Amino acid sequence: MNSNNHCLFCDITQRKIPSDIIYEDEFVVVFRDIAPKAPVHLLVVPKKHIETIDHLNKIDQALIGHMILIAQKIARNENISDNGYRLVFNVKKHAGQMVDHIHLHILGGKPLGTMV
Ligand code: AMP
Repeated sequence: MNSNNHCLFCDITQRKIPSDIIYEDEFVVVFRDIAPKAPVHLLVVPKKHIETIDHLNKIDQALIGHMILIAQKIARNENISDNGYRLVFNVKKHAGQMVDHIHLHILGGKPLGTMV
């Protein structure tokens, strides 16, 4: 939620605002990042509003596992699996989290360099 109690990614998952959605199931939506940092840049976003990874509870364990397995499936569909890709959760301000609704970045399609 931002200061107006409004969440951009809730709006996208509820299809209140348009985005380039490539996958949807009961728990998540996957769409293309509006400002891609790699040839393939997708976001796996849960329909449940959870602000950050720091706000996760034990009850969300299966959801996070589901997000990662969906990322694996989407990466295969996008043909970035053979060469590899990066999955990223930015958590709060030092990591540069801009949208306070958890999202898993899938980045690939070129060598990404090493981050850590
Ligand atoms: P983060 O910095 O981890 O919070 O990442 C937020 C990501 O959301 C950034 O990569 C943005 O480019 C992306 N983003 C912001 N608004 C939209 C939007 N309306 N549709 C798709 N991606 C978006």
